Amino acid sequence: MNIKTARKLLMFFMIVAVAGALIGLIFLEPGTRASVYVTMGSFGCMVISMILLFGYCKCPWCGKRITANLMKAEYCPYCKKDFETGLKHKGRR
Ligand SMILES: [Zn+2]
Repeated sequence: MNIKTARKLLMFFMIVAVAGALIGLIFLEPGTRASVYVTMGSFGCMVISMILLFGYCKCPWCGKRITANLMKAEYCPYCKKDFETGLKHKGRR
């Protein structure tokens, strides 16, 4: 999986997880079947986003994990290669 796809999915699952947790807390009575499903769903999304973060959000060229500036980075802060083209970026980060 491409890092750009991975971080889009990561954003999506994180938002779903947080939204699910909030909806479960605010609108659903604890102990009901609906609240159990929502809690499990948001927990599942959390797990998926963790897998994406630790498994796929890394540089395709040097393999280092991208954490700083993950959502905006266009190239690797370690080897400075563009995630898509592999061309080196010059100058400051
Ligand atoms: Zn790299």
